[in-house]
Amino acid sequence: MNVKELRDSPGSSETVRRTADAPEGFGTPLVGIEEHSELDVELRFDSVHEGVLASGTAAGLVQGQCGRCLDAISFPLTVDVTQLFAWPENVQEAAEDEDETRAVDSDLTVNLEPVLRDLMVSALPFAPVCRDDCPGLCSQCGFRMEEDLEHEHEQLDPRWAELAGLAEQLNEADDDRSSA
Ligand SMILES: [Zn+2]
Ligand SMILES: [Zn+2]
Repeated sequence: MNVKELRDSPGSSETVRRTADAPEGFGTPLVGIEEHSELDVELRFDSVHEGVLASGTAAGLVQGQCGRCLDAISFPLTVDVTQLFAWPENVQEAAEDEDETRAVDSDLTVNLEPVLRDLMVSALPFAPVCRDDCPGLCSQCGFRMEEDLEHEHEQLDPRWAELAGLAEQLNEADDDRSSA
């Protein structure tokens, strides 16, 4: 985004609406905006004394996996953007006021990508789930708990384990007979 005209006329503003190609890295290992998917950006750039103030929204489709059951999930995400890009010569001064200072590049363009990336990645859920009460997978065998909420593994006393093994063998023998 070139801001030369804004620079030349203080107090002016420009609105940009565009659908961009999402760059890589807009996500966490589990969820994110897929690279090359659509990123809808609607921003107003105001030429202010200190620089260019960008405000508006950025929106995209988040895709990924439920952190509990690993099912595919997707949901829309919109973030609010308010970011001042200081004029290059003001950066030193502004940096003292605020840590998160960003600057207009020396060729009078602003790079929105790192701003949007920070905003969108920090808006992503830390532990994404397909639904709030997703029961996830059995920690012992990976069974989808959703299919049988009663699913559990009996914690056998080692003294009984042998007996249980024997009972299982008998059951299997029964099954073999009945299926034959
Ligand atoms: Zn799930
Ligand atoms: Zn299990």
